[in-house]
Amino acid sequence: MQGMALAISASRLCWRRGGEALRPFLISGTQTGHLAHLSAEHYALVMGCYPTENRVVARGAVKPSSESMTHGVIYALDTAVRGVIHVHSPHLWQAAEHLALPMTAADVPYGTPAMAQEVARLFAQTDVRQRGIFGMAGHEDGIVAFGRDLDEAGAVLARNWESLQS
Ligand SMILES: [Zn+2]
Repeated sequence: MQGMALAISASRLCWRRGGEALRPFLISGTQTGHLAHLSAEHYALVMGCYPTENRVVARGAVKPSSESMTHGVIYALDTAVRGVIHVHSPHLWQAAEHLALPMTAADVPYGTPAMAQEVARLFAQTDVRQRGIFGMAGHEDGIVAFGRDLDEAGAVLARNWESLQS
């Protein structure tokens, strides 16, 4: 498939501390999008995302992807989600209208608190939860897919991709 995976994350655990629901997730680090194979040292463990403070708390040898906030918001909005894949795909992004993909606003750049709000808006106002995919109008070629695991997120990407070939 054309397009590189720039941030892959997976979450399995969920626990509560005080009134706060925590869903730590593993996410690929910055500057790993060009690597064909990722191993443990290319991942960071994100312990918490605080969009209103523009703050991500993480552990690991690498800095978590700049897209961590977006991933964290999806995990927070839908506890059934356990895998998120962010790709840069000109092919899918340019076909967003044709595919009727839910899209974040064009004036919102990725990795910002505003993007976190935009993703929350999509969950409230569109069928993104059922579709498992959305585009970022303000982040050229930016596509995000998610599912109950990484396989399902990948299958969503493949299905949309294939629908363009027919
Ligand atoms: Zn990106």
